[in-house]
Amino acid sequence: MMKKNLHFIFGDQLSHKLLNLVHLDLQNDVILMCEVKEETSYVWHHPKKIAFIFSAMRHFADELRQKGAQVEYIKFDDENNLGSFDAELEKAIKKYNPQKILLTEPSEYRVWQKVLNWQKTLKVPFEIFPDERFLCSKIDFRNWAKGKKQLRLEFFYREMRKKHKILLDEKMAPVGGKWNYDEQNRKSPEKDMKSPKRISHKKDDITKEVLTLVEKHFKQNFGDLLPFHFAVNNSQAMLEAKHFIDNLLPNFGDYQDAMFAGEAYLYHSLLSSYINVGLIDPLELCQMAEKSYLDGKAPLNAVEGFIRQILGWREYVRGIYWLFAPQYFESNFFNAKNNLPEFYWGKKTQMFCIEEVVKQTKEHSYSHHIQRLMITGNFALLAAIDPKKVHEWYLAVYADAFEWVEMPNTIGMALHADGGIMASKPYAASGKYISRMSNFCDKCSFDPEVSVGKNACPFNSLYWNFISKNEDKLKKNQRMQFVYPTWHKMSEEKRSQILNQAQLYLDQINNNQL
Ligand SMILES: Cc1cc2nc3c(=O)[nH]c(=O)nc-3n(C[C@H](O)[C@H](O)[C@H](O)COP(=O)(O)OP(=O)(O)OC[C@H]3O[C@@H](n4cnc5c(N)ncnc54)[C@H](O)[C@@H]3O)c2cc1C
Ligand code: SF4
Repeated sequence: MMKKNLHFIFGDQLSHKLLNLVHLDLQNDVILMCEVKEETSYVWHHPKKIAFIFSAMRHFADELRQKGAQVEYIKFDDENNLGSFDAELEKAIKKYNPQKILLTEPSEYRVWQKVLNWQKTLKVPFEIFPDERFLCSKIDFRNWAKGKKQLRLEFFYREMRKKHKILLDEKMAPVGGKWNYDEQNRKSPEKDMKSPKRISHKKDDITKEVLTLVEKHFKQNFGDLLPFHFAVNNSQAMLEAKHFIDNLLPNFGDYQDAMFAGEAYLYHSLLSSYINVGLIDPLELCQMAEKSYLDGKAPLNAVEGFIRQILGWREYVRGIYWLFAPQYFESNFFNAKNNLPEFYWGKKTQMFCIEEVVKQTKEHSYSHHIQRLMITGNFALLAAIDPKKVHEWYLAVYADAFEWVEMPNTIGMALHADGGIMASKPYAASGKYISRMSNFCDKCSFDPEVSVGKNACPFNSLYWNFISKNEDKLKKNQRMQFVYPTWHKMSEEKRSQILNQAQLYLDQINNNQL
């Protein structure tokens, strides 16, 4: 059978705006989509993540069929599923004998290497389109980075605001007079925090079938499959976006950094998974948030903070990933070599903060940014856990985790393993920070005010141990200039007590006894 073109769509490309789909010839072309074992097994993905992606893929395939397209969809449990993109693509080429293969560039380096290999080995021409869902192309990011000593988010973000004309006045200056209102976005949690209710979506037959499949094949993976509330198509995802903008955005800024036991979501949008797989257009979302400010419905600190995450951070981390791939993946600035403790996979720990974040992660395949950064990330940094092991954990457990976004956040932001390409100083913090920004310590057997002794918060001694052990690497950092004098002002005896305490905890961590 001779088909004109074969379009290959990856599982995180579920957008009708993809450039290759713009070139789709409904009469003659065929679209290939596949659920393959290889993609479900390179890390131990959370069952909710697999179910979300498979269900969203199947819904997208149906939408394409409703438009009149011919879709060759390989389900995970199809008898003749060959288990890899390579094999499925070859099979489809044999079946359809296409003139050309059209695809939009994959988001991850790993898959990009496959595409490069296909171009070399398969005897069919390829046409590869840039992924215009991203608001800064790889080339534009490279040009922005060229010749700069430091690649700071803030300056990139300002360029992005100008490029996309978001939150600017008629003179192209930032509305309100400032580019960044982050200092207003660090409120501690209130005594009794309860965030508004979230939307839940009715599960249709497609989702039910996927849930049965995931239950059968991925039972051993870390994480709860049910309850399953994810949106699985564009209209459901947009309902969530609208719900967030109307009901939660006004408080998003104030409580952006707050953490509260039993409240996994607080005022966060929960939209990352949908943006990352293509169900929500990031620019449209920024424009919705901007309109909310212009209509007087949400304050500037909230709206600017939200837009900065998407137009700034999200694009910036993607730029960093592609600029430094693949050597970035090997980064280990602090030469951290410890194993990931079992409590990251749900084993009991006495540290309430870790237990709570891991519990939320297990239940929801979600944890908000500050928890990823300042609880699980901060702990991994202080306990010198091997960056590759930490990276694999983050890539596995969150529904929004794709390497291009997860890796820079883990390697660069949380672990400072890139030596400061992303962050001007390590996000290292003691228990006092966690105590200020959460109610976790009230429920913990450790005391965040204590550094040495039976009830000493492990984050405290581990923090000073990290500072002391890495003095050579960090003492010249301008942003650490207050830390070292504080450390050296302590008496010799106190310092050695703290370091002994840290060693005790490190031994316990390495033996999975903390
Ligand atoms: C160690 C670590 C690992 C992370 N791994 C991922 C990941 O695998 N996938 C992922 O999408 N995000 C990741 N992040 C970034 C961030 O934590 C999530 O995007 C956010 O928590 C998603 O929840 P939300 O949609 O409620 O976000 P909100 O707090 O509501 O933020 C709005 C949107 O901004 C974007 N955003 C916010 N912060 C970042 C950021 N640092 N980088 C990129 N985009 C951002 C997301 O699209 C998010 O939906 C990670 C952060 C850390 C510290
Ligand atoms: S006391 Fe320490 S270990 Fe316990 S919750 Fe607070 S920061 Fe975490």
